[in-house]
Amino acid sequence: MAGSKFAYVRKFELPDVLLPSTFMVFRLDGHSFHRFSDEHGFVKPNDLRALQLMDHAAKSLMEEYKDIGLAFGESDEYSFLLRKSTALYNRRQAKIVSTLTSLFTSCYVFHWPRYFPDVPLRYPPSFDGRIVLYPSEQEVRDYFAWRQADTHINNLYNTAFWALIQQGGLTTTDAHAVLRGTVSKDKHEILFSRFGVNYDKLDPRYRKGSVFVRAETAEEPVDELSIKTDAASTQADVSGEALKKKKKGKVATQLELLHCDIIRDDFWEKYGHILRE
Ligand code: ATP
Ligand code: ATP
Ligand code: MG
Ligand code: MG
Ligand code: MG
Ligand code: MG
Repeated sequence: MAGSKFAYVRKFELPDVLLPSTFMVFRLDGHSFHRFSDEHGFVKPNDLRALQLMDHAAKSLMEEYKDIGLAFGESDEYSFLLRKSTALYNRRQAKIVSTLTSLFTSCYVFHWPRYFPDVPLRYPPSFDGRIVLYPSEQEVRDYFAWRQADTHINNLYNTAFWALIQQGGLTTTDAHAVLRGTVSKDKHEILFSRFGVNYDKLDPRYRKGSVFVRAETAEEPVDELSIKTDAASTQADVSGEALKKKKKGKVATQLELLHCDIIRDDFWEKYGHILRE
């Protein structure tokens, strides 16, 4: 159909197809969550409810988009690895980034009352999103190592910072001053000698972040967190997993939430299939 005389404007839309056969890492991050966490009374340094809500939204995304094999979350951010061969939305960048960011955000808001039953949302939160392409397994591994190293550095700092304030009675200015110029060993020492805290014994959720892996299982998993929104799953089906299911019969996958080291080799020895599918 030729359409109206106005239809030529469509030609101004440029293609934004992402390079084939490359890993896509999609990362989103809460917009101004420093303020958002203050206004909603997040517990410092780590609000468990907020982290669990992030995990829930991430899991929802992986349930809808089967081409995501791995995810890593910390603080107000989450990274998702898509299969090298994904044909999701014909690899159109804006379509993928906008749809995934939007679904994550709406899941975050949708499930907010479950994690914060006594804290009404004061305003609508938002997230930014981006995709970075990586050509080989090494960069993908290094990407996730980079994020987990960041989790460690931030959490060690924040744990020492808030101990100085909450248990040590310091002001934020003084706590920053105490920590200025300290290396990792010094922060461990401050935590141990002043507050009796053995950092390495703290909950790995805080020290390691959250890791979701997709593992194949024989049976269809039953999961209380699973949410199905039909519109999104129909769209995600274009990405290949559903077609494979139809051809091969039932291939059930299960999402596992881990708080483990993803820098060392053993994680990748166990879950390396994620990179090769
Ligand atoms: P930007 O819009 O540039 O991302 P931002 O304020 O979100 O700005 P980030 O570097 O993303 O800055 O940091 C997020 C901040 O949100 C953290 O520094 C922390 O103060 C707060 N935050 C996020 N999640 C939690 C949590 N689970 N518990 C406590 N505080 C949190
Ligand atoms: P895509 O994901 O590619 O955008 P789509 O199904 O959303 O696919 P669109 O071209 O965006 O396709 O069309 C949106 C469709 O949603 C319309 O064709 C119509 O069927 C329906 N729709 C949207 N808003 C309304 C509305 N206010 N009342 C009735 N139907 C609506
Ligand atoms: Mg930022
Ligand atoms: Mg942020
Ligand atoms: Mg952040
Ligand atoms: Mg539409």
